[in-house]
Amino acid sequence: MTAPSPTLTAARHGLLLADIRCYHCQALTSVAAIWVADFEEHEDGEVIDNREATLLAYPKWLDEGRTRLILIHSPWMRLAATKTSEITYWANHCQVCGAAHGDHYVGGVDGLYWPQDDEALARPTFVRGAGPLRAVGSSSQSSWMTRVEDVCG
Ligand SMILES: [Zn+2]
Repeated sequence: MTAPSPTLTAARHGLLLADIRCYHCQALTSVAAIWVADFEEHEDGEVIDNREATLLAYPKWLDEGRTRLILIHSPWMRLAATKTSEITYWANHCQVCGAAHGDHYVGGVDGLYWPQDDEALARPTFVRGAGPLRAVGSSSQSSWMTRVEDVCG
């Protein structure tokens, strides 16, 4: 199987790990967001955008190194078809009941990854990944994402 043409490539990346209360079983469970920096977005093989930092939203495909990073640090992320998005992508799942925590839920306004101040921003655990990232997915940008490396340990 040949790898698909990436829609997003990044020089630096990492996982932001945090805890969330499962909407389904109410257990405290972990979620991860894929943060990227110094990234380019591609369309039909051409670079259409080039920016500082973002979260990778609805990742439909990840390169081998990123798949490995997730297996090690956030094995509750796996390819799943979620009802809301109607696409299959790497989504968070509750470690207790297995319910999918879709990106619309985890990454939305007032969600876990919508910090209002540095204190909130410092809460997730930052796990830096090695090497460049290649993915098929979209970007979900907010100003705090440029400060992840300064604020998150
Ligand atoms: Zn649950």
